[in-house]
Amino acid sequence: MEADLYKHKGMRRALVQHLRQKGIRDERVLAAIDAVPRHFFFEKAFVEQAYQDKAFPIGEGQTISQPYTVAFQTELLRLRPTDKVLEIGTGSGYQCCVLLQITPHVYTIEYNKPLYDKARRFFAKYGLKPHTFHGDGSEGLPQHAPFNKIIVTAGAPIVPRSLLKQLAVGGILVIPVGDENSQKMLRITRVSEDEFEREEFDDFKFVPLLGREGWGSEQ
Ligand code: SAM
Repeated sequence: MEADLYKHKGMRRALVQHLRQKGIRDERVLAAIDAVPRHFFFEKAFVEQAYQDKAFPIGEGQTISQPYTVAFQTELLRLRPTDKVLEIGTGSGYQCCVLLQITPHVYTIEYNKPLYDKARRFFAKYGLKPHTFHGDGSEGLPQHAPFNKIIVTAGAPIVPRSLLKQLAVGGILVIPVGDENSQKMLRITRVSEDEFEREEFDDFKFVPLLGREGWGSEQ
C-alpha cells in the first residue's frame, strides 16, 4: 500500500487551489479531488508529476486525464450522491475514484484489456467497489441502463446513439466530440423521453474513443 503523506496532501491542496482559480466551483468536485491520492496512479519516480495539472501516459498509448479536465467534466455532470453513473474509459481508474467520492453507484467500462486488468487490481487493492466492465463502451451498458449520468473520457467522432438511449429522463451525458486533434466538450441533458438539450463548452484533446460508435476497432 502506498503512503499518503503530508507532502502529498499539501501538493493536492495546491492543485485544488489551482483548479478553483481556473474556475471550478462545485465544492463536491473540489473535495473529491482533494480526497483522491493521484500519486497512487503513478510510478514512484513520477510522484512530482502527479500533482501537476497535466495529462500523463499510463501505458498502452493511453493517458490519465489532466486534473482540470477531470474536474471540469465532473462539474458538468452535476453529480449527486444518489446518481447512478457510467464512465466510458476507465483508463488508470483515477476519474472513477473521483466519481466514487460523490456517489457509490459507479459503472466503468474499459476497452483495453491490460488497462482494465490493471485498474481492477488497483480497485481491489484499495477496497474500492465500482462495477467494472471490459468491452466497447461506445455502446454503453444496455443491461444496466438507465443511468442518471454518463461521462465519456475519450474523444468521440459523434454522440453515440446508444448512450442517448441509456440516459434516464433528466439525465446528463458529458462527452468530448470532434476530430482527432480537438474535441468540443458537450453536455447533453435528456429533458423528456424524446427531447435532448445540448450545450457546448471549451475545446479539449483526448485520445480517441474506439469501438462501433466511436472511431472503430483499430487499437
Ligand atoms: N478516465 C481515465 C482516467 O481517469 O485515467 C482516462 C481515460 S483515457 C483519456 C481514455 C480511455 O478510454 C483509455 O483508457 C482507452 O483505452 C479508453 N477507451 C477508448 N475507447 C473506448 C471504448 N470504446 N470503450 C471503453 N473504453 C475506451
